[in-house]
Amino acid sequence: MNYKITVLPGDGIGPEVVGEALKVLDKVGEKFGHTFEFDHQLIGGSAIDATGEGLPQATIDSARSSDAVFLGAVGGPKWDALPGDKRPEKALLGIRKELGLFANLRPAIMFDELKDACPLKPEKVEGGLDILVVRELTGGIYFGERGYRDENTAYDVEEYSVYEIERIAEIAFDMAMKRNRKLTSVDKANVLESSRLWRKTVAKVAEKYPEVTLENFYVDNCAMQLVYNPKQFDVILTSNIFGDILSDEASMITGSLGMLPSASLATGNFGLYEPVHGSAPDIAGTGKANPMATILSAAMMLKYTFGLSRESEAVENAVKKVLSKGYRTGDIMSEGKTLCTTSEIGDLITSNI
Ligand code: NAD
Repeated sequence: MNYKITVLPGDGIGPEVVGEALKVLDKVGEKFGHTFEFDHQLIGGSAIDATGEGLPQATIDSARSSDAVFLGAVGGPKWDALPGDKRPEKALLGIRKELGLFANLRPAIMFDELKDACPLKPEKVEGGLDILVVRELTGGIYFGERGYRDENTAYDVEEYSVYEIERIAEIAFDMAMKRNRKLTSVDKANVLESSRLWRKTVAKVAEKYPEVTLENFYVDNCAMQLVYNPKQFDVILTSNIFGDILSDEASMITGSLGMLPSASLATGNFGLYEPVHGSAPDIAGTGKANPMATILSAAMMLKYTFGLSRESEAVENAVKKVLSKGYRTGDIMSEGKTLCTTSEIGDLITSNI
């Protein structure tokens, strides 16, 4: 099969880590008989420099005519002084909205080989950790009405419709069915009206999934339980703002930002895939970036958009093999392991496909 992918390397370490993931995809194509056609486009700071806009129309057009979008990271000190709506990060909100990417999937997986990097006591994560945060991405307070009532008072509105809650809940229940049939829905229903609608709607969707055990957690309790007893969680369903915070917390438990992939899905199988980390300007251009989060994002793309589970597993297994042989970038380095550059790790993973 031939798959067209819009590639958005972005800024900082974005182009470095994306380059390694494309090597891996080429090898997957060669090995399993697929062709991946890459259409490189601009986003973020590099797009502002070249065109004056963080999200050029050519990028949106390319993404709309592709099977999937593959992104590195955006932003950096060069563009930090720009006003809020001109900043590179704004392009991320823009592309999610343009492409209707309403579901963000963020796995927080702790690789056994990296358990020393976990900041929690070893007994809390004994036997590993595998949590999937399903976050609503195009609604809620980040997209709600906002403004100033007067110069001393500002407001942002949290608002959700039944339709928005139903479609994200269905994705979360589907994921739970493919995993351990356990779902934790997060809200603040003791205080917020929008959360009460969230809870009621999720309960209604749950009727279609009798095999899934549903729990409802208040967001403050969920934040606490994630560090107290993270192993109780499997799939966590959240609104946009709660998911933003909780998925970062879940990520930290796994120990390294450089290991965490993500997917943002629209209806159908279309999706945008990117590592969770940012553009890491402090290490850009030094060969120190860990490309594994981006490579694992490519594995998610193979599975969720292209339906290529065998190929996706081949990539995940290659990452695990490289880790188990002791190869590391600086962010996950420990005593007795072999320190590698970004491209050395990319080559090692490629050769293990
Ligand atoms: P960051 O994730 O870029 O970096 C945080 C720390 O983690 C840094 O010390 C960095 O060196 C390290 N790190 C991150 N990714 C790594 C990797 N793959 N390998 C090794 N080390 C890695 O977050 P930040 O420093 O807060 O933000 C830097 C820029 O990135 C900002 O402009 C921010 O707005 C932007 N950002 C973009 C995205 C995105 O594109 N999705 C996400 C977060 C931040």
